[in-house]
Amino acid sequence: MYHAYEHYVIKNVELWTEREVISQCDVEIQHGRIKAIEKHISVPKSAHLIDGRGFTLLPAGVDPQVHLRVPGQAEKETAGTGLLAALRGGIAAVLSMPNTKPTIDSTEVCEAAVLELEEAEHLTGVKAYLTGSITQSLKGKAAAPYKELADWGVKAFTDDGLGVVDDDLMRSAFEASELTGLPILQHAEFPGHGGVLAAGPVQEKLGIPAYPAAAEADMVARDIHILKDYPKARYHVLHVSAHETLELVSAAKAEGLHVSCEVTPHHLWFSSDEIKDEVTSFKMNPPLRGPSDKRALRKALADGTIDFVATDHAPHEASAKGQNFKTSAFGTTGLETSLRVLLSLVTEGVLSPQRLVQVFSSRPARFLGIEKDIGDISIDRPMAAVLVNRESREEVTEDDLFSLSKNSCFLGEKLDGKIESVFLADRYYQF
Ligand SMILES: [Zn+2]
Repeated sequence: MYHAYEHYVIKNVELWTEREVISQCDVEIQHGRIKAIEKHISVPKSAHLIDGRGFTLLPAGVDPQVHLRVPGQAEKETAGTGLLAALRGGIAAVLSMPNTKPTIDSTEVCEAAVLELEEAEHLTGVKAYLTGSITQSLKGKAAAPYKELADWGVKAFTDDGLGVVDDDLMRSAFEASELTGLPILQHAEFPGHGGVLAAGPVQEKLGIPAYPAAAEADMVARDIHILKDYPKARYHVLHVSAHETLELVSAAKAEGLHVSCEVTPHHLWFSSDEIKDEVTSFKMNPPLRGPSDKRALRKALADGTIDFVATDHAPHEASAKGQNFKTSAFGTTGLETSLRVLLSLVTEGVLSPQRLVQVFSSRPARFLGIEKDIGDISIDRPMAAVLVNRESREEVTEDDLFSLSKNSCFLGEKLDGKIESVFLADRYYQF
C-alpha cells in the first residue's frame, strides 16, 4: 500500500502553506521529518528521489466532522474503508461522530471503537479521533459522563444528528467545556419542522414542507445566549447552512465569545436549485439552501467568519438511501472529494491557496490540538502532505470513491485536482 523511505527528496514542486506559495522548490525528508526546503537540494545517492514537477505539495488535511460508523455499523462503513477514503482524499486525521451503535457515551464504547480502528489506522497512517455524546444514548435527556470521557481522550462533545433542545443540558455541556477545555459541537436544529429539503424546485415538485433556516439559526441564537454565562466554554456550530446563522456567529465572535463554525464542501458547491431529481445523495442535514446562502457561505469562508471546512461524511448503504426523498436517510459522503472542491474554489477565485491550506488543514488541526503533527510544511516538522495535479479537471466517478458507501452528491460533477500521492512521515502512498 505504501513505500517507506528513511530519506527522500521531492524535487521541483510547487509548495503551498498557510503563509506563502513557493512556485518551485525541493523538499527533503529524513526519518519522517522535514529536513530542508530549498530552491535546489543535491540528492545524496542513498535518498529516494520523487519528481514533483508540475505538481503542488500542501499540508495533508484534517476533517473534523466524519461519521466513521465505528463501532457497529459495518453495513455503512468500516474502519478500513473510512480511513482509506480519508487517505485518498489527502486527509491525515479525522474526528469521528458518536452516533454509532452503541452511542459513544462511555469509555467502554471508546475502547470498543479503538479496537476496531487500530489496524486501519496503522495501515493507512490516518489518525481517527473520537467525540463523546452530549447526552446519554443521544436521547437529549441526561448528560453523558463528560469528565470520564475527557480523561479518556475524546476531543469534543456532540449529539450530531440531533440538536440539544433542553436549555439545562446545554448549560451542563458548557460547564463541562469550561472544566475540560473541550469544545461543544452543536448540530443546530430545533425539531418539529417536518422538512427534509429547503425551499427549492425539487422540494416544490415533491410537495413536501420546506426545512426552514430558522430551525438552525434559532438554536444557534439560543446557544449563544446561554454561552454568555460560560465565558470560558468553547461553542462550535457544525455544518452551517444559512446566512442567518453566519450573522449570529459573526456577532458572537465580535463580542469575544469562544464561538467557531464550519461549512461542508457540498454547501459550498451546490444550492437547492442544483439538486438532481431522484438523486437522494442530495438529501442531507442540514439541507442545501438557496443561491444567496451558497454565496454567503463562500464569502464567509474566505473572510474568516467560517473557521474551516468539514465534510460531514455520512455513508449509507444503497437500501437506506433509495430514490425517495421522503424516506431516504440523510447524508452524503465527502472525504474523497473535499480537497478537489476546495481546489476548484481556488480556480474560481473564491479562496487563495493560503486560505485553502488554513481551512483544509491548519485551522482544524489547531481546533483539535494536533497542530504539531499536521497543518504545515516547514523544517523540523513531521511530514504530513498531499501531492496534487491541479491541471486535472475530471468528472467524479465511482472509481474515485473508496468509502464502502457510494452516496456522494458529487458523482458526475467536474472537479479540479487529481490527488497523486500522500506523504505521512517516512511513508509514500502513491495512487
Ligand atoms: Zn449534523
